[in-house]
Amino acid sequence: MRELIEVRLFADEAKRFLPPQIGREEGLSRQVLLELNDPLVERIRQHEQEKRRQDSVVVTYWEIHRKYTQRELKEAKLLWLRVRPFFEPTGEDCGTMYDETTACPKCGFGARQVGPLHLELKRIPKRDIARTLGGEIVVSARLAEQMKTAGIRGYELGPVVSRQGKPTPHWHQLLLPECSVELAPETRVGADFFVPQPDEARCPQGHVAGFTVLSEVHLQRSSVGEADWLCTRQAVGPRMGAFRPLPLLLISQRLYQLLTSLKVKRFDVEVAHLG
Ligand SMILES: [Zn+2]
Repeated sequence: MRELIEVRLFADEAKRFLPPQIGREEGLSRQVLLELNDPLVERIRQHEQEKRRQDSVVVTYWEIHRKYTQRELKEAKLLWLRVRPFFEPTGEDCGTMYDETTACPKCGFGARQVGPLHLELKRIPKRDIARTLGGEIVVSARLAEQMKTAGIRGYELGPVVSRQGKPTPHWHQLLLPECSVELAPETRVGADFFVPQPDEARCPQGHVAGFTVLSEVHLQRSSVGEADWLCTRQAVGPRMGAFRPLPLLLISQRLYQLLTSLKVKRFDVEVAHLG
């Protein structure tokens, strides 16, 4: 596995501590792609931390790209699945009801969907799996049929209806009833790669592990059952606007093989480690 970090920084600040040949400038921004263990990553961190103390920033964007070999992907028992990009409007924006009385007042996690998922049907991307900005996941009728035929376990399907409540045969909501996989302590979660703490999203009661995942995902083996769709007990992310804290989605090797053989698009996976 190769770990690269893509960073965008303010160009005039980057000049002060990055060699001129590193990355490329575009307007006010310098864009760099570094191996995660490159000493320059630490140098960026030091400058970002110093800037934060002055209530400012150098880094405007970062993303870690993990590139696994085919063999690593094939040998993983579980993979962390991310459906992307998100689409809008969310179910909530289209009239899906949520019972917020069950949500934690600290982190907002635990609101329960009541009734069917309302969506703007024409706005659902024409792929087999898609996720709204609010975290609602839909699968195509084709994928639903294939999962049933293959005997995939650990999910339920709910109806998808229009804003006005008219059902569609083309889509189903993917529901994961059991979110019971425990994150292992090796999974680093924080507000930001360069300045992980303080992390306002983290719930003192343990519902939300933090704002975003910073490392590879590690799970407690004893908490992993036999299902093909799984998710973590702990959620990640803030309750803010359309965003809700969401558990991490995990899929079995069997389901990964199925998605690959069906050429399902709009998702990426990382190896999830069991400890
Ligand atoms: Zn909470």
